[in-house]
Amino acid sequence: MNLNRVDINKCNPCLCGSNMPAQFVCRFKPSCSGLPMYCEEDDCSDQHNHQLCTIVTAMKQMNKKESDFKEQITQLKQRLVHNFTSYEPLIKFYSECQKILVKEESIVRQHLFLDDRVAQVDTLSQDVEVYFQQLVVLQEEYDLDGMTQLIETQGEEYKKIYKELESLGEMNDKLLQEIYPEAIASDYENEKLMNEFQPQNWNTYHKLKHYALKKEINGKDERIRKLEQKVEEILQTIKDQVGV
Ligand SMILES: [Zn+2]
Ligand SMILES: [Zn+2]
Repeated sequence: MNLNRVDINKCNPCLCGSNMPAQFVCRFKPSCSGLPMYCEEDDCSDQHNHQLCTIVTAMKQMNKKESDFKEQITQLKQRLVHNFTSYEPLIKFYSECQKILVKEESIVRQHLFLDDRVAQVDTLSQDVEVYFQQLVVLQEEYDLDGMTQLIETQGEEYKKIYKELESLGEMNDKLLQEIYPEAIASDYENEKLMNEFQPQNWNTYHKLKHYALKKEINGKDERIRKLEQKVEEILQTIKDQVGV
């Protein structure tokens, strides 16, 4: 079976009235004055002063674009989910802390709660799987309008959600540092959630805390160094003025 060949039995009759199958798609709307879908009949096809594109090719291109989108989501899910279980107790703990911190001080960050984000990615991935299967069915039925409509509504919605999530990196210590710096540095304790920690979680917990403290000390060092420099400058100015 040649997948590129048009099955004319699946095509609607052309609206030009020729009673021939509308097997071509005009890609130059609205500048082209011909029918959006047209047939081989000379009077009808002559309206289109451009290269032919069959309904099969048009649908394949649409499918390819959506299939690439589906692949992007698969990759996003893979980099987040494959390590999620091992980080989950820690993430739940930091998220609880983050909830308190967000109320107390205004933390503005694109991603605030990793567990919620991972759940969103999971849902999106399932929804897009269904969406893609729907497209495949419409494609088999040669329902180009149905495909267009589905892509413009549901597809656009999913792409919007993906845009919000795509900046999430690989699930690792670094990602936790990016999203929970305040929570990591805080003294927050939660017996119930901490009881869920596995040895590896404790390991990461201490590692992250250590890193946060070191960063804080370095920050202080930097502030002191700048302060010293400032004092040095002022002293120099005074010396210059006094002429010592
Ligand atoms: Zn026609
Ligand atoms: Zn045309």
